[in-house]
Amino acid sequence: MPNKTVRVRFAPSPTGPLHMGGVRTALYNYLFAKKHNGTFIIRIEDTDQTRFVEGAQDYIMDAMNWCGIMPSEGPGIGGEFGPYVQSERKEMYKPYAEKLIANEKAYYAFDTAEELDAMREQSKQMGMPNWQYNSVTRASLRNSITLPQSEVAQLLLDGTPYVIRMKMPRNVDIRFHDIIRGWVVVNTNNLDDKVLFKSDGMPTYHLANIVDDHTMEISHVIRGEEWLPSAPLHVMLYEAFGWECPLFAHLPLLLKPDGNGKLSKRDGDRLGFPVFPTNWTTAEGELYSGYREKGYHPGAFINMLALLGWNPGTTQELFNLDELVEAFSLERVSKSGAKFDPDKTLWFQQQYLRSQSDESLAEELKILLPSITQNNNELSIICGLMKERATFVKDIHTDGHYLFERPSEIDQESISKKWKDNTSSLLLGWESKLSQLEAFDASTIEKEFKSYLEENAVGIGAVLLPFRLVVTGVGAGPGMFDISAYLGQKEVVERMQIGLEIIQKQLNEK
Ligand code: GLU
Repeated sequence: MPNKTVRVRFAPSPTGPLHMGGVRTALYNYLFAKKHNGTFIIRIEDTDQTRFVEGAQDYIMDAMNWCGIMPSEGPGIGGEFGPYVQSERKEMYKPYAEKLIANEKAYYAFDTAEELDAMREQSKQMGMPNWQYNSVTRASLRNSITLPQSEVAQLLLDGTPYVIRMKMPRNVDIRFHDIIRGWVVVNTNNLDDKVLFKSDGMPTYHLANIVDDHTMEISHVIRGEEWLPSAPLHVMLYEAFGWECPLFAHLPLLLKPDGNGKLSKRDGDRLGFPVFPTNWTTAEGELYSGYREKGYHPGAFINMLALLGWNPGTTQELFNLDELVEAFSLERVSKSGAKFDPDKTLWFQQQYLRSQSDESLAEELKILLPSITQNNNELSIICGLMKERATFVKDIHTDGHYLFERPSEIDQESISKKWKDNTSSLLLGWESKLSQLEAFDASTIEKEFKSYLEENAVGIGAVLLPFRLVVTGVGAGPGMFDISAYLGQKEVVERMQIGLEIIQKQLNEK
């Protein structure tokens, strides 16, 4: 149980649509906040203007809304710590960078891009391909550590472009505790002097992230594993400012279904499942499919995502959002990557559909297919009949089309396999029994059916499938007595007559 007020943030960069890994990060932040009566915040990290993608921020907000995990502070939502978009906080960062310079924790660097490229090239030729601006190389570069103070002052006065870099100390072990990974130790000799403030007047991700997490009073930083290498620098920055460091939790990667590497945006449509919560069309018109448009229910999507990297410590797999909040803990998030399983994802959707009431499925179906003429009561019965066999709401209509209208054809293959010499006459007899029934509920029909079989000394197979074929046109579906009760006596008898006529004609033609 955290002993400080929980304030967590999801901090996406608007560089494109939110990948399902990003949704999982948002979800874990949400669950953690709710579990501890804390606050869940969204902050848009758009300091890298070159990677900005139009529409991405709206996409992110819309996707989170669909998932039912809306933050309580953020752009368009409000909150005491705004603005929540970094480009709108631009003016705030420079004084912090200057404070670091004043404390000799950072420095101005005047080297041009060409000069740095030349250094890299030279180093490569000497057999060292990974040249870095660091505590060793900075001693021979153009910066406020090497240049005389008067020259630095003049360069700044002249408006010479510069960046501000972190002054990494030499040979210091940085230690921090990650809730998921335990103790992490990194020696500063392995770290470079990262740029904190760019020549375009914008902070880099690192500086803005730390200043914002501090000023927004973030208690826990819950984010993807890809940010773990940046964490030592972040810890150094907190120390350099003299601020208390938030607690860290770096989430495991989402892996491809075969476990080979990170699940990427291209994998989805290649392997036949979405990797985005909702559809996304690029500026070039390329469409990436989303779970929403494929027909997934957000509850099923969230349930599946929650279990990719976290487990409740029990065998329970089906959770609604409130149950996830109740069960969630960062301590049960695993260190190792989580393999995405498309079949399991379908299973969650199936289970979700089954758990819905017939009435709410009927409502969803009506919204999906407004031209349906059945009333609410009829639709609820149809949904009840079909939901065990459907994965998506639309399947209820596609697979159960004969419950909505008469079948336009009868499955030929089943007829040729199942039609025996006595089939038609057995069906005729059954039709006449059915037409004389006084009550037409499923159990009456079933009782009558059994006695009809006995009277004729035949097994179920001789009548049930042919009966199904003439009434529904297909060889499989929900129980025939339930279907019959739903369709009603008149409809069933008429369908049998029409079906028998068609089949008879076909058999005569042979
Ligand atoms: N802006 C980073 C991203 O795009 C956020 C990293 C963090 O949460 O600190 O994922």
